[in-house]
Amino acid sequence: MQVPFLDLKAQYRSIKEEIDAAMQAVVDQTAFAGGPFVARFEEAFAKFCGCKYAVGAGSGTDALWMALIASGVGPGDEVITVPDTFIATAEAISFCGAKPVFVDVVESTCNMDPEKLESAITERTKAVIPVHLFGQPADMDPILEIARRHGLLVIEDACQAHGSQYKGRMAGSLGDAGCFSFYPGKNLGAYGEAGAVVTNSEALAEKMRMFRDHGQARKYEHEMIGWNARMDGLQGAVLSVKLNHLEDWNDARRQNAHFYDELLQGVPGIIVPTEADYARHVYHIYAIRVKNRDKLIPQLAEHQIFCGIHYPIPLHLQKAYESQAIPAGRFPMAEQCASEFLSLPMYPELTREQIEFVCTTLKTLIPLE
Ligand SMILES: *Cc1c(COP(=O)(O)O)cnc(C)c1O
Repeated sequence: MQVPFLDLKAQYRSIKEEIDAAMQAVVDQTAFAGGPFVARFEEAFAKFCGCKYAVGAGSGTDALWMALIASGVGPGDEVITVPDTFIATAEAISFCGAKPVFVDVVESTCNMDPEKLESAITERTKAVIPVHLFGQPADMDPILEIARRHGLLVIEDACQAHGSQYKGRMAGSLGDAGCFSFYPGKNLGAYGEAGAVVTNSEALAEKMRMFRDHGQARKYEHEMIGWNARMDGLQGAVLSVKLNHLEDWNDARRQNAHFYDELLQGVPGIIVPTEADYARHVYHIYAIRVKNRDKLIPQLAEHQIFCGIHYPIPLHLQKAYESQAIPAGRFPMAEQCASEFLSLPMYPELTREQIEFVCTTLKTLIPLE
């Protein structure tokens, strides 16, 4: 049996006719850059997230960047985030001319530790970016409370958390803006690159619309220095089709995660992920923690089971951020998680037989240490 880490073909096969028709409609209308297919998706996605506005973008990285720029983050500002995330979270901050400031995570979710947040705030702090890692929201109530008390913006990195909930509210709708990636492998994935920001602020939505289109209010009248961060028409059409299936796919991911939990709970040497009381986890990634993953990964691959690591090096220890000169040991929880995470195959189409095979194989390999 083969268990790929991800299987985008299986999903395409299940919706081929709808997708092919949607893409053909874009081609027929040659509505390639922005346009009606993007607008239709934006409306549907805003509604899905329980927000007034969604602004499509070229990628999740663009979405984070334009949310920060439109919020007025710039040189001299500090933005607080976590070290255990994809580097785009920090890059977006750096590309505003601001400085990413890291705080440690809590062990149970590997998300921002609200108790570490307040001591990282300085007079330069402008915003906080909690990341909803692997599809589980950060503990937003205390984060929002601290941010409000200090007059800080809260921009959620919801790039892995489409349809995830915090106390019954949608991820992305909790702060001032929520940023999403539709990279093909995400829970809601485009057939190319795409992203979006959701918000309830009309002013912020307007600014982002202008920014992503070269700062234009009207054609060739540029009110600000912007960028080309538009979403493609093809992606808008594909995403509109796929959004209708997202809840079912997230439910399937949750079932798969619970089956993994059942088979792996209590196995010595394995820590299974936990779902916080406040959360509806949508398992973009199902990451267990083990001590010997460097041995395990190639052994699993010999059995045709393909795993990943998200993410092996926390951001403060990346060469890209060496100028901050943060020593190893500064964020112990983030560093421990990063050194132990092992992402098992996870997608809606994964079968029970595949999950059983992964777990049985894993159990025979784990005591080798
Ligand atoms: C995927 C991802 C991004 C970046 O999204 P792209 O669409 O790849 O630019 C940012 N943050 C997190 C947490 C992500 O997982």
